[in-house]
Formats: sequence, C-alpha cells, structure tokens
Amino acid sequence: MGEYLLRCPRCGSLQPPSALGCANDDSLLRTEYVARRLTLRDDLPGLWKFFDWLPVKEPLRGVGEKPVTFRSEGLARELGLSRLYISFSGYWPERGARMATCSFKDLEAPPTVERLMERKDGQALVVASAGNTARAFAQAASAAGVPLVLVVPSSGKSRLWTTVPPSESICVVSVTGDYTEAIDLAGRLAGEAGFVGEGGARNVARRDGMGVVVLDAALAMGALPDHYFQAVGSGTGGIAAWEASLRLIGDGRFGSSLPRLHIAQNSPCAPLYAAWTGSAAPQGPCPGGMYDEVLYNRKPPYAVPGGVRDALEETAGTVCSISNGEASVAHQLFEEAEEIDILPAAAVAVAALQRAAASGSVEKKDLILLNITGGGVSRAKEELDMFMLRSDIEAEPSAHTSASEYGLLAEIEEILGRRGPR
Ligand SMILES: *Cc1c(COP(=O)(O)O)cnc(C)c1O
Repeated sequence: MGEYLLRCPRCGSLQPPSALGCANDDSLLRTEYVARRLTLRDDLPGLWKFFDWLPVKEPLRGVGEKPVTFRSEGLARELGLSRLYISFSGYWPERGARMATCSFKDLEAPPTVERLMERKDGQALVVASAGNTARAFAQAASAAGVPLVLVVPSSGKSRLWTTVPPSESICVVSVTGDYTEAIDLAGRLAGEAGFVGEGGARNVARRDGMGVVVLDAALAMGALPDHYFQAVGSGTGGIAAWEASLRLIGDGRFGSSLPRLHIAQNSPCAPLYAAWTGSAAPQGPCPGGMYDEVLYNRKPPYAVPGGVRDALEETAGTVCSISNGEASVAHQLFEEAEEIDILPAAAVAVAALQRAAASGSVEKKDLILLNITGGGVSRAKEELDMFMLRSDIEAEPSAHTSASEYGLLAEIEEILGRRGPR
C-alpha cells in the first residue's frame, strides 16, 4: 500500500523518504515500490486506484480524478493509424473524465499535497504558476485545507479559477513582471522557515502522479504502447512515462519493451529540442508569442541523471519542435475528429503525431498512446461552478531583495495565520 524506498538511479544509494535529491549527486531520485505487481484498488476513487504505486500513505479525500484512455476512431482515421489510443486528462463527462481543472496537473497536485501533509510539519506550500499548475494546486489545497502560497505574474490572474470554493488558507501573491520574476520570488519564499517548495520534477509525488497516464493506458490497452506522444515544457511528464513503463515491465504482464518517447516542444522556445539536437538555444522573448506558454521552462531537468536525456536515450526517443501554424492546424483537426475542445499544449502533441505519421516514423499498425494533457475547459465552464481566486498581495520584488526584507513574508504569514490552516 504505497510502501516504497527512494533510490538514486546513479549511485544506487537509498535516501530518506521526503528527500528531493541524492546526498551524493544531482540525480532525480526514484521510488521503488514494495508491490512489484500493480493491483488496482477498486475501493478507492480516481487516481487513488493506483495507490500501490503512489508515494503516499493515505488517499486525499475529495480530489484526485484520473484520466480516461480510449481507442481513437476519428483522429485515427484522419491520420491513417489503426491502433491509436488517447489518454485524455480533462473534463469530458461523456467519456468519464472529470478532472476539474482540466489538465494533467490534476494528477500531480493531489499526491504532492497529500505527501506534504503526511510530513505533519505544517509548512505552507509555495507554487509559482499562473496556469494549469496553479489551478490544480489551488483545487487540491482547498480539498485538504493545506496552506498554499500561489505566486503568479500579474498578467495571469484571470486564469486562476477552481471549481470548488477556494479555501481560506490560500494566499495569492501577484508579482509585477513576468513569469520569471514569479519563479524567482517563489524560490526565495520557499527557502524561508515555515515554507516549502513543491519540488517540481524532483518531487516523486509529481512524477508518479503523472505516471498514472501510462498505468491507466496500459490497463486499457492490455500492453505497453510502442510509442508515447506528449507535448512538454520541463519534460517531467516524459520522465514519468518512462518510469511508469519501467515499473510495468517489472510487473511482467504488459510486455518487455519500453515505449519510444516522442516529446514535442513549441518552436522557437524549445530548449529541450535545442539540447537534444545540439541546435542553437532559443533566442528572443520566450515564452512570449508561444502557442502555449506552459511549454516553456527555463531550466528543464535535461542532463541530470534520471532526467530527460536519460529517458530519451533509454527509449530511443525523439524530440520535435512544432510551429504555431502546425499546432493550430492540428488543434482544429483534433477538435473536429474527436468532438472535444483541448488545451493549446495538447494540440502541439497532436501536431507531433501528425508529423510522425506523415513521415513514416510511426507505422499504421503500431500501438500508439497520445497524451492529451489538457482539455474540456469549455465543457467544464458549461457544467461546473467557477470560482475566481483574487489576489491578496501585490508585490514588486527586486531580484536582490530577500522575501523577508521587504515585509512580504510577514504579510503572507498574517494572511495565512489570520485565516488559519483549518
Ligand atoms: C504542464 C503541461 C504540459 C507539459 O508538462 P511537462 O511537465 O513538461 O511534462 C503539457 N500540457 C499541459 C496541458 C500542461 O499543463
């Protein structure tokens, strides 16, 4: 039942259960679950059915839907593929998908919040995002009553909504400036006593939560796919897919070959593509002008042991870079073929698959998994309640001022303390 060890993939040493890194090197630690065979927990809802392979001691009640996997007809026909499966993370009740904030960040946030609560040290979680990550964490923290500080660039405030009333223990700090300033400020805040960062790719709860996509798909397909397609920013979802596949191979019932990872970025803001192909690093005002800004990450975990490069090398993977024009064509193609709206990021993955099908790098009869990482926002807005999060503090940080110095810390603590965590 979620029992695990944390091991360093490079030096093999065991690390303490809440560690975010190895004491000897900079690798991404990996969970090693006691259960080698995946037993679905049908008594638990949503993603908690995969409890055996999630690094938590309890499910978090009230949050944690799972994606759905289905065999495509419409898109498969358009692309001339006969065994295309789609994993859909979002809101599409007709197919049984009820992920309320409409992206696969809804797989990362609940296990991360639960794992933090299990430490019982009452720290406030700090998250920098104005998009899918912010919504997912706001939703999970509201279900758990966990104190959460969301640091958002002021331009992104309108994208902050939840489908449950946001809990009193969320403090929204909106930062004048761009996403980079929000990340920097969140990093400084997370270093203060009483605050903790969510850990990004280093947090196994985030990666194993995202791994549910491949677990759910393998159960639906009866085997591991030959190919896995996903649009990436940090590439964490790709790493998670690789790790989940390794675990499924260990289980023994799903085949013995790793799926080829096909990860897609959005040109020209495509640092992982640049690193993998050795081409020039992105220039210009990234993420400005991107088809979806969620696909840009300044410091993706590329070269660290257990990171994106290792995942690509071990799976004979590919990285492509998709233009806004290609994404837009693929976006329309998908929505017409499958009759559901998808997030722009997911359209980039569709474009990558479209390219691969056209070039013959996947074959008609290959077993293919396309990860639609977000969608159904229009459906959700029709059917669900929407609550906007308002900003509690407007901050104008300068890069060299520590969070405590300009009084921000005291203000946040007052807001969280005044409202109380529970
Ligand atoms: C975060 C996100 C991605 C990229 O995820 P990685 O962390 O790079 O794997 C893709 N699509 C959507 C909708 C996202 O929210």
